[in-house]
Amino acid sequence: MTTYNAYEITLDAFIAKILIVCPKCTKKAQVVDHSDGNTILTCISCAYNTSKKVAFYQLGTPKDPFFGHPLWLQKKFKDGIFWAYNLEHLTLLENHIAANRRARDITKISNRSIGSRLPKWVTSKKNRKELLQLIDALKKR
Ligand SMILES: [Zn+2]
Repeated sequence: MTTYNAYEITLDAFIAKILIVCPKCTKKAQVVDHSDGNTILTCISCAYNTSKKVAFYQLGTPKDPFFGHPLWLQKKFKDGIFWAYNLEHLTLLENHIAANRRARDITKISNRSIGSRLPKWVTSKKNRKELLQLIDALKKR
């Protein structure tokens, strides 16, 4: 698995395949954004599938940006909802939270980057231990 620096990557990098709660059976389903403009939702548990052409999508909420279904990888924390689009995104957040000293190369920081847009409670030292436990629980989902 590639290791990313949260300050050099934006959310768009993780939207090609998003894990969601199936709207039919509430088990794990996925939304795949194909480069031809079609976005396809498939559930291996109940075989539900649907597709649509997506012209506009909004990033940054605990819902998939194409269909608007709740993300599979999300959990309530005392300060807000912690979420990730997929396991790679979750691992990026885990590494970012676990890092004692975060590698910030000022020249490369984009203010659209995941690292610079995380809420303060996600990077707060006092929440580190609890958030890493939460991430562990999400990984086992
Ligand atoms: Zn299903």
